[in-house]
Amino acid sequence: MVILCRRMFRQLTAPLCVQIRISGKTGEIPMANVTELFGSMVFDDRKMQERLPRTTYKSLKKTVKNGEPLDISVANAVANAMKDWAVEMGCTHYTHWFQPMTGVTAEKHDSFIYPTDDGRIIMEFSGKELIKGEPDASSFPSGGIRATFEARGYTSWDPTSPAFIREKTLYIPTAFCSYTGEVLDKKTPLLRSMERLSSVAVKVLHLFGKNEVTRVTTTVGPEQEYFLIDKTMYDKRPDLIYTGRTLFGAPAPKGQELEDHYFGSIKTRVSSYMNELDEELWKLGVFAKTKHNEVAPSQHELAPIFETSNIATDHNELTMEVMKKIAERHGLVCLLHEKPFAGVNGSGKHNNWSISTNTGENLLDPGKQPENNLQFQLFLAAVVKAVHEYQDLLRLTVASAGNDHRLGANEAPPAIISMYLGDDLGALVESIVNGTEYKCKDSADMLTKVDVLADFQKDNSDRNRTSPFAFTGNKFEFRALGSSLNIACPNYMLNTMVAEELSEFYEELKDADDFEAAVKAVVKKTLTDHQNIIFNGDNYSEEWVKEAERRGLCNYRSLPEAMAHYVDKKNIDLFVKNGIVSEAELRARYEIELEHYSKQIRIEALTMIDMAEKNITPAVISFVKELTDAALAKKSLLPSISVKPETTLVEELSDELEKFVDKTAELKAAVSGASSANSDNLSQAMYYREKVFSLMGELRTIGDSMEQKTSAKYWPYPSYGELLFGV
Ligand code: ADP
Ligand code: MG
Repeated sequence: MVILCRRMFRQLTAPLCVQIRISGKTGEIPMANVTELFGSMVFDDRKMQERLPRTTYKSLKKTVKNGEPLDISVANAVANAMKDWAVEMGCTHYTHWFQPMTGVTAEKHDSFIYPTDDGRIIMEFSGKELIKGEPDASSFPSGGIRATFEARGYTSWDPTSPAFIREKTLYIPTAFCSYTGEVLDKKTPLLRSMERLSSVAVKVLHLFGKNEVTRVTTTVGPEQEYFLIDKTMYDKRPDLIYTGRTLFGAPAPKGQELEDHYFGSIKTRVSSYMNELDEELWKLGVFAKTKHNEVAPSQHELAPIFETSNIATDHNELTMEVMKKIAERHGLVCLLHEKPFAGVNGSGKHNNWSISTNTGENLLDPGKQPENNLQFQLFLAAVVKAVHEYQDLLRLTVASAGNDHRLGANEAPPAIISMYLGDDLGALVESIVNGTEYKCKDSADMLTKVDVLADFQKDNSDRNRTSPFAFTGNKFEFRALGSSLNIACPNYMLNTMVAEELSEFYEELKDADDFEAAVKAVVKKTLTDHQNIIFNGDNYSEEWVKEAERRGLCNYRSLPEAMAHYVDKKNIDLFVKNGIVSEAELRARYEIELEHYSKQIRIEALTMIDMAEKNITPAVISFVKELTDAALAKKSLLPSISVKPETTLVEELSDELEKFVDKTAELKAAVSGASSANSDNLSQAMYYREKVFSLMGELRTIGDSMEQKTSAKYWPYPSYGELLFGV
C-alpha cells in the first residue's frame, strides 16, 4: 500500500509546480521541494527504517502488515526513536490522539520531561507510554455503559497509522476503551472490521487458488466539501458560532442558479488558503490531490488519493482540523456543517471504497471480461447482498441532525439506499439473473471532431450523480455521507456487512465438489434475490420514491426514524457474530447518537430563541418605530400627504412580529417541555424532530420574511448576500 501510494504520489506531482510559502515568502519553487516536504512531519516508514534497529523495524512491520501482536521491547525501541525524532523537530509534548463518540477527535498533551536525581530533567518516552494512555473516560459519551465512578479509560497505540507532529506535539493515533474493556471510540470497530473482512476474504480467495494472498485491506478516498466565509461576518452570527449553520437568513438575490461557481476560477484569497492547506496536509503525509469550487457560492472541495481505511479515516479527521486551523490564518472560517445555508447546496463527503489484496489486486475491478471473472462476480454479489440486507445500517450511519437537511433534498441522494452499477455491470447482472448472453457495450472512441484535439477512449459507463451508492469502475462511491461525519462509522458498517456475506458464501463454497458451478449458483441466486437494491435511474425523482416503496426499500427521513433500527435483532447479530462490538456496546452507541441528536436540536432551538428575543424582535420594533415617526412627521408637515408606504410596512411588520413573538414563545415552551414529555432517548429524539424542529422551521419563515422588509441598517445580522459572497 505504501509503495503504491508513493508511486501514485509521484505521478500526481510530476506535472505540477506549486506555490509554497518559505519563511513567509510566496514563490514558485521546484517540485523536488514538495517531494521533500511530503511527510516531513510524519514518523513514516523511511524514518523508522533509518532510526530503528533492523530487528525492531522488522517486527513492527509484521504487526502493521499482518496484524501480529506487538512486543514491549519493540515498543520501547520505537518510543525512543519517535521521541528522539520529535525532539529534534522541536517537540516538547506528545499526545494520544483518539476518536471518542463526541464526533470530534480528542487529545491530552503530556511533556517528555522526566526529573533526574540531581534536580535536572531529561526528555524520556517509554514503550509503556507509547502503548497505553489513561485519559479520564468519565467525561466522554459512553451511552450509560459505564458509571461515572468507573472513570478510567485507556488509549492504546494504533501502530498501523503513523505518528505525526503538529504544533510542537507528537501525535500518536490511538484507540479508546473503558477500564472494563468496552469500546468507547470509532477507530476500534473500524480496525476490527478490517481484520474481520481480511480474514474472511483471504479464505474465499484461497478457494480460488490464490494462496499467495495473506491479507486483504479496504481502501478509502474521501472527497471533502466545505464552505469558507469571512471571519468578521461569522463573528456576528451566533447561529454559526453555536450551531455551525444559519438558523435565520432570507435568500440573497443570487444563489447558485447561474451555475457559475462549480469549477469556476478560484478567488485569490481562497487560492492562497488552498495552497497553504495543501502544503500543511502534504507535510502531514496526506495525499491532497484535487481542489475546486463546488456548486454553492463559497463552497469548495478537496479530494485526496485513497489509502487503507484506517489511515484514510485518521487523515480525513486531520484534514478537517487543518482546514479549520488554516482558515483562521486567512481571516476565514471553514464551515463543515452539512447545511450551513438554506436554499443553496449543503456539503457532503463521498466515500470511495474498495477492497484489495496484499498482492496488489483490486477485488472490485471487473477486468476485461467480467462475464468470465467469477471471483469479481462473487465479491460484487457480496456487496449487492450486503447493501440490500443492511440498507438500514447504511442509512443510519450517515444520519445526523445536519445531514437530515440534505438527504432527499435534490442536492444529495435520497434517504432511500440503492445501488447504481452502470450499463456494463447492469447488463452483466441481467445476463446472470436471466441466464442470457452478456453483451458488453464496446467502449467507444470519443471523437472530438477537431483536428488539434486528440480523440480518446470513453469510460464504459456514464456517471450517475444521484445514486447513494454508485459503482465507479473499480470501487464504490458511497455518496450519502455528510461533510462533518467521521468516516470510520460508514466504513466499519460496510466492511462488517460485506465480511458477513463473504463468510456465508465461504460456508456454501468450501466443500463444493464443482467449485466453479457452485460459485455460479451462489452468484446467480444472490443477484436474483437482491436485484431490487439496484437502481440505475434518477434517484431525485418522485417516481423513484414510489418505486422504492413498491420494492420494499426503506425510506427513513430523519435520524430518529433511522436510528430506531440500529438495535434491530439482525443488526445486533451482525456486529456480535463478526466480533465488531458487543450488544451492550451497540446499544450504548444507539443511546449516544439519539442523545446527541436531541442535544443538537435543543442548542439550535435555544440559539434561535435567543436571536429572536434579544435581537430580531427589538430590531423590528425599532424599525417600525422609525417608520411610524417618519409617517407622523410627514403628516404634521403636510396633512394631505400620503403615508401609505410607511403604514403598509408598519402594518405588515407588526402583523408578522406578533406571529413571530407568539411562535418564539411556542418554541420556548416546546423546548422546556421536552424532558418531561419523554422517558427514553428515542422518544425524546422523535419529539425534538417532530415538535421542536418543525416549530423552528415555522419561526424561521416568519423571521426571514421580516428580514426582507426590514432596513439593513436595523437588521442585526449579516445577510446571506454578505455571508455567501463576502470572501
Ligand atoms: P472519479 O473521477 O470516478 O470520482 P477518481 O479517480 O477521481 O474517480 O477518484 C475519486 C476518489 O476515489 C479519489 O479520492 C480516489 O483516490 C478514490 N479512489 C480511487 N480508487 C480507489 C480505490 N481503489 N479505493 C478507494 N478509493 C479510490
Ligand atoms: Mg468522485
